[in-house]
Amino acid sequence: MQQVMIVTGGSRGIGAAMALLAAGREYAVCVNYLRNSDAAAAVVQAVEQHGGQAFAVQADVSRENDVLRMFAAVDARFGPVTALVNNAGILETQQRVDQMTADRINRILTTNVTSCFLCCREAIRRMSTAHGGAGGSIVNVSSAASRLGSPGEYVDYAASKGAVDTLTIGLSKEVAAEGIRVNAVRPAFIYTDIHASGGEPGRVDRVAGSVPMQRGGHPEEVARAILWLLSDEASYATGTFIELAGGK
Ligand code: NAP
Repeated sequence: MQQVMIVTGGSRGIGAAMALLAAGREYAVCVNYLRNSDAAAAVVQAVEQHGGQAFAVQADVSRENDVLRMFAAVDARFGPVTALVNNAGILETQQRVDQMTADRINRILTTNVTSCFLCCREAIRRMSTAHGGAGGSIVNVSSAASRLGSPGEYVDYAASKGAVDTLTIGLSKEVAAEGIRVNAVRPAFIYTDIHASGGEPGRVDRVAGSVPMQRGGHPEEVARAILWLLSDEASYATGTFIELAGGK
């Protein structure tokens, strides 16, 4: 059976590394993105150059109609999803909680949390044996921020990842007897563009000295752990977390 993966936020950073790695392991991949169509097209092109199958779908995964459209596009192109990576996520300029507006907090929560719920819902409707599916696997991309709290930087972002952790635990138990495993990774200090959104493109190098391994991480190091959790190699793992934070 064709393995079909949806990677939300697959145009850059961890998501792009995930799409490239998965395509090399025989997954047909949907590369979701929000705005950067050139970056998404470059990921698809790289996959195709290596003999893999991928296509790009623009969708704001915090919006229900966009999520429905994305899953329908995947159904039509490759068949029902068998592996979902809830990777899309944002943070905003570093600031204290006493400076945050409601609009900002809501943007963070809808993009980082509502998106995961909506994509999980659509995946379960296709994967669950209770819905006539053949099973599947979901990995949520959380963050070590859910443990560390990100004081003075983005407690809103950290709290959104705490919600992703709780979703992972609850959902894993809800669908465990329906052929679906739900796990998460908690990266930190990975070299991607996300830190520029916080106003500090060089953040990873600034904090690397406080990481026990004395370095930042690379997107491929996160993607390899996600791929393992998705695979049958992890067949008895559900509701679990892999920390990818250099020992922090
Ligand atoms: P990134 O380089 O900033 O890439 C973000 C990706 O998400 C892009 O593909 C972007 O699309 C997409 N995106 C943003 N909002 C979206 C939306 N509403 N709908 C669909 N796609 C959306 O980020 P990253 O560092 O790779 O982070 C990926 C995940 O890892 C996030 O969940 C992040 O919280 C988590 N994480 C990262 C780190 C780290 O140190 N980098 C640490 C812990 C956790 P466009 O290209 O179109 O903008």
